[in-house]
Amino acid sequence: MTFQPVLERIAEDIGRMPDRGRPAGYIPALAACDPARFGMAVAEPDGTVYGVGEWRTPFSAQSVTKVFTLALDLAREGDALWEHVGREPSGNPFNSLVQLEYEGGIPRNPFINAGALVVTDRLHTRTGDAAAELLTFLRTESGNPGLAFDLDVAASEDAHGDRNAALAHFMASYGNIASPVPVLLDQYFRQCSVAASCADLALATGFLARHGVRADGSRLLSRSQAKQVNAVMLTCGTYDAAGDFAYRVGLPGKSGVGGGIIAVVPGRCTLCVWGPGLDERGNSVSGVAALDRFTTLTGLSVF
Ligand code: GLN
Repeated sequence: MTFQPVLERIAEDIGRMPDRGRPAGYIPALAACDPARFGMAVAEPDGTVYGVGEWRTPFSAQSVTKVFTLALDLAREGDALWEHVGREPSGNPFNSLVQLEYEGGIPRNPFINAGALVVTDRLHTRTGDAAAELLTFLRTESGNPGLAFDLDVAASEDAHGDRNAALAHFMASYGNIASPVPVLLDQYFRQCSVAASCADLALATGFLARHGVRADGSRLLSRSQAKQVNAVMLTCGTYDAAGDFAYRVGLPGKSGVGGGIIAVVPGRCTLCVWGPGLDERGNSVSGVAALDRFTTLTGLSVF
């Protein structure tokens, strides 16, 4: 099946959207992005990619990277990870602190910032450089050796990083962070700063459509673990909008404040859409709309 006609149609529909939200305002590098920009790519399990709009333009991957660090850590330590981070939706904003105290420093899931910090810490402890491990994985799976951190974005995150620092210190007080907090924050901010295109990220997500198998045919995750990551994406990947995302899109998905969203149709394809305008929960307005159109037009969803 060629996905090109459906992508063209979605791009036309998105072009007519009157309000596409506002870019993330917390760092200047993201605030300057025009919410009218749009790109979308679909990758098939064999690596065939279709795209529309700015599907080859790099953007700030941000929290989309949390899927890859989760998979890389899960591949190494298996179920022991779940003693340090939960897998229930939080119903709270992605950078919330409120549940951490009464849950003893164990974050609700790996996709809110607190949970992602724990995952990055654990991957860092195991590999010696979590951000480098992530970058190598993304380069290999996307086939794009040019993928890189945007160190200006990382520096900007650091300059506005009080909330993430608070989360890390708070969890460290419960013994749930092993690295020195400044080391962890440096790793996490570089992780979030990865600049990648819709094509790159759709391809890099392919292992989740291939039930855990990487682009070269080797296995990263067991079939069961790939299912688990997809399930956590469905229930937690878009924060306190995960219910609405499942209702509208019906796919495992993960958003980032750079305006990217990745999504998986297990066994069939992976998607990445980019539109820098966000809604009040931090998800791309045109991105959710485009994925909503995709599953409506193709009938491809997990439901
Ligand atoms: N770097 C961002 C932060 O930590 C990532 C958040 C996101 O993309 N939702 O605040």
